[in-house]
Amino acid sequence: MVRITGRRYDTREVVTIHCVDGCVSEIDRHADDPVPAARELPWIGPGLVDLQVNGFGGQEFTDPGLTVEHVLQISLQMDADGVTRYLPTATTNGFDVLVHTLSTIAAACLASPEVASRVPGIHLEGPYLSPHEGPRGAHPRAHCRTPDWEEFSRLQQAAQGRIRILTLSPEYEGVTQFIRRAVDSGVLVAIGHTSADSAQIRAAVDAGASMSTHLGNGAHGQLRRHPNYIWDQLAEDRLVASLIVDGHHLPAEVVKSFVRGKTVQRCVLVSDMVGMAGMPPGRYANTAVGDIELLDDGRIVVADQTQYLAGASLPLTVGIANLMRFTDVDLPTAIDLASKRPADLIATTTGTFERGSPADFIQFSLPQSSGERIKIEATVKHGEVVYGSLWESTE
Ligand SMILES: [Zn+2]
Repeated sequence: MVRITGRRYDTREVVTIHCVDGCVSEIDRHADDPVPAARELPWIGPGLVDLQVNGFGGQEFTDPGLTVEHVLQISLQMDADGVTRYLPTATTNGFDVLVHTLSTIAAACLASPEVASRVPGIHLEGPYLSPHEGPRGAHPRAHCRTPDWEEFSRLQQAAQGRIRILTLSPEYEGVTQFIRRAVDSGVLVAIGHTSADSAQIRAAVDAGASMSTHLGNGAHGQLRRHPNYIWDQLAEDRLVASLIVDGHHLPAEVVKSFVRGKTVQRCVLVSDMVGMAGMPPGRYANTAVGDIELLDDGRIVVADQTQYLAGASLPLTVGIANLMRFTDVDLPTAIDLASKRPADLIATTTGTFERGSPADFIQFSLPQSSGERIKIEATVKHGEVVYGSLWESTE
């Protein structure tokens, strides 16, 4: 039986969580600081939930060579960053590559309990995105296309019903009907990689779109001051915004303004890590996004063009620390934006301090200096230590 002792990230109480059969069976509440060396007690928080992971350790999900084994490897690699549930993300490509990606992830969920417990669904980002330079970002123009319900249904079938989030651009004609059908089928529709105008965004939200994917990224380098699709989404209270707070994709001032504008109730953090995440710094040729350089600070840039980001490589633990640095958001809220709130959005769960809750937790310590990440000391998944080792009282 696993027991986790530490300080609750939300109430600061010192507790011991007992885990049986993958769930919380009992919680002991200690009187204030009865444990020796209480100052060094680690924090306990819910396992992190990442709604956008394109790959890891050199492997993209959107790859004709993706195997069930790759999906397992990536899922297990999430443990070290405290991510206990995540959505593998398939990006814009031809129909056959998407079918292969989605069906392979679905097969991995069926074949492996480790994958099934970590993957509550799939995020399909594309292929119905803006074809325009800027908004489409790194999504191949040749594959950006008009929303097609027949095609989407076949993709959902390949995924065995596992597509939970669909990111699309509402700039296409007939998109509102598509959005209505997708939402009725239980899929969360997000707006992203778009050059839609104000009326198109409003119509998409009226039809049921409820999220903005990485607001402020996947946008034109130069944009009319107002109105534009960033203000439109920022002001729309029916949209939750996902944000990449890796310190590179959005300047600190933008993160602060977005979080204040949306309020913390309508923000979640995503990593948007690409396949090159988790690799050592260096130059890499012929990756999914061409020749790239992975810099020491975690930026992934087009080789020899350090001003162009080619994807994100830093995990949610970095986003949590940055969020606290860039804004006046406190620790409990920053953790919630990377765990509980994203879990709620897709109707999945993570650890809570209640009996019967899934025993998905992180033991962590705070960054020692600016620019660091919260340090994962141990990750507990389904009541088992899957990364690091739990702090134990020397009592
Ligand atoms: Zn994107």
